[in-house]
Amino acid sequence: MFGTLSDRLTATFKNLRGKGRLSETDVNKAIRDIRLALLDADVALPVVKRFTSRVRERALGAEVSQALNPAQQVVKIVNEELISILGGETRQIRFAKQPPTVIMLAGLQGSGKTTFAGKLGRWLKDKGHTPLLVAADLQRPNAVTQLEVTGERAGVPVFAPERGNMGGHDAVLDSGEGTRSFGDPVAVSRAGVAEAQARQHDVVIIDTAGRLAVDTNLMQQAADIRAAVQPDEVLFVIDAMIGQAAVETAQAFHDGVAFTGVVLSKLDGDARGGAALSVTEITGEPIMFASIGEKVTDIEVFHPDRMASRILD
Ligand code: GDP
Repeated sequence: MFGTLSDRLTATFKNLRGKGRLSETDVNKAIRDIRLALLDADVALPVVKRFTSRVRERALGAEVSQALNPAQQVVKIVNEELISILGGETRQIRFAKQPPTVIMLAGLQGSGKTTFAGKLGRWLKDKGHTPLLVAADLQRPNAVTQLEVTGERAGVPVFAPERGNMGGHDAVLDSGEGTRSFGDPVAVSRAGVAEAQARQHDVVIIDTAGRLAVDTNLMQQAADIRAAVQPDEVLFVIDAMIGQAAVETAQAFHDGVAFTGVVLSKLDGDARGGAALSVTEITGEPIMFASIGEKVTDIEVFHPDRMASRILD
């Protein structure tokens, strides 16, 4: 992740360091190199423009021209602006004053929601919470089973609809083994929260359905679940490899479910990093977690300053 971007930024800075005093031409050339490096890393164009114009403005100002070490000052500015587009401060989960805290997950199919539900459950459990996972992805026959397997691996209980008990009619599917029928995801989500209240689970994590592309029915379903359970956090899970589609997808989910935070998944892959660097600037919502592998413990709290250092190391 970020390997090429990192290398190119490092080369740009090395070039600047060789110069001592920086002329406007030197700064402009460096900005052009940074701009191309970001675009090649799939960072969204409006984000690149805003980023480079802020860096240029500061780099041509007094803080650089009067600095003892101008190149170092430019590196510092790039670092600060990177932290800023990554959201600035680390954002923690906002727990409800009155438990249970309800956390809803949304995102495209395959983005890593179900995997992340298990990881978040385990992470919370390790911190002394008593989470409950709720299987509200009733679009795919396998999704409920997958969450049950994930929950078992994570050591976190799963609330799932059993045959007949949800009385659904709009998404009735059968797994083929005749063991389960599927009901209404809104009813399942509500029932999951009620179950958590009854059994003293202090956090509820609701896994919702995803589609391969943004879809109005899916978005309406997620919006209905949101309206029904009034979650404390809605986390939008996005595959870091999504590239330029990050902007459109993030905007559609932000409009559709008003997510409150972002989870970047598959950050362990060799993605070019564009999604990571675009989504907060585009939606105004912070990246809260990174998912960094297929194991249940492959989860990290996202720290904008550490990520910026990783990019600029
Ligand atoms: P969902 O459809 O959004 O629920 O996505 P899944 O949780 O089923 O994940 C889709 C695929 O991505 C699965 O094969 C997961 O094992 C894989 N996956 C999920 N998160 C990560 C991650 O952080 N890193 C890697 N390498 N793979 C992941």
